[in-house]
Amino acid sequence: MQASPDTPHPPLEDRFGRRVSYLRLSVTDRCNFRCVYCMPAEGIALQPAASLLTFEEIEEIVGAFAALGVERIRLTGGEPLVRRDLPTLIQRLRALPGVREIVLTTNGHLLRRHAAALRDAGLAGVTVSLDSLRPERFARITRGGDLDRVLDGIQAAQDAGFGPVKLNAVIIRGFNDDEILDLAAWAVERRLLLRLIEFMPIGEDTVWGEVAGGGCVPAAELRAVLASRWTLTPEGMRPGAGPARYLRLEGPDTPQGARVGVISAVTECFCDACNRVRLTPQGGLRACLADDREANLRDLLRSTPPGPARAEALRHAVARALGAKEATHAFTLDGGNVTSKQMVSIGG
Ligand code: SAM
Ligand code: SF4
Repeated sequence: MQASPDTPHPPLEDRFGRRVSYLRLSVTDRCNFRCVYCMPAEGIALQPAASLLTFEEIEEIVGAFAALGVERIRLTGGEPLVRRDLPTLIQRLRALPGVREIVLTTNGHLLRRHAAALRDAGLAGVTVSLDSLRPERFARITRGGDLDRVLDGIQAAQDAGFGPVKLNAVIIRGFNDDEILDLAAWAVERRLLLRLIEFMPIGEDTVWGEVAGGGCVPAAELRAVLASRWTLTPEGMRPGAGPARYLRLEGPDTPQGARVGVISAVTECFCDACNRVRLTPQGGLRACLADDREANLRDLLRSTPPGPARAEALRHAVARALGAKEATHAFTLDGGNVTSKQMVSIGG
């Protein structure tokens, strides 16, 4: 494939011909919530601060990805807003040739404080996790989160000019599967773009092991619940965007253009459209969320003097990791290949 003016090297492709244009960059494994689907109640063993990639290291790695055709970066974690000076990092990454868009996924707890600065720094979009609209239930799922504060964070993102703000709701049987219609109605009324997410078997010590069948509510069931209230028109995925398949919703009292997305990694796998790789806070490059093999780019940077040889070594490491990327994962309703790391340490 030809290199474009922004990508001096041929764009990254895996061995199945899938082009990689999107990097999920986890900036911390720390979090101010402890969601039942993401980490165990007692939290995780945090890595020492010195093991985190510095802003300079992140810049160098993202620069290497951008030179290989990665255009879109999602900042995630852990909770990305607990990493100090995030707007500075955004400004620095925005300035890299080839980087076209930086977006953020957050639990919203610190969003009111940071929304305007994030927007000023050039952040293009915000996704907020919102699994319930009932305060006590929200606190139970997030193990202590304050719903009002998160709702205010969503409002702050809208006030700062991020629009449309997206919402992520992981639907778990027995936790919030009776709130699908309420969440969808609430979101469409406010012109927020809700995505209903199947609970994935990531990490051994989440609530997955405690709920029969893992608690995953299959996409077909999510759609059936939506269809009980709205007429649904499937619109499929948005090219180059994430794995959500969107449905247009029509019905009484529903604004024109209302939509909800469904993200169905477990029962309706979308791996053939995969365009992404992940970087852990410690610089581990994961070609797939479900694959525990990581290429440690931080060690590579810290053991190689700066210069063209290091840039070349970085490109090789990335190409090697991509070369080993599998066609698909093996998530199933019974668990399948549960990863050894928790979502919070990988970067969701
Ligand atoms: N702390 C931020 C947040 O909660 O939005 C960003 C990190 S979080 C790991 C990113 C996304 O992963 C969230 O929307 C969360 O709901 C989702 N997530 C975490 N664990 C999951 C699981 N086991 N299955 C499906 N989605 C999960
Ligand atoms: Fe923290 Fe986000 Fe995981 Fe919840 S989903 S524990 S907010 S990283």
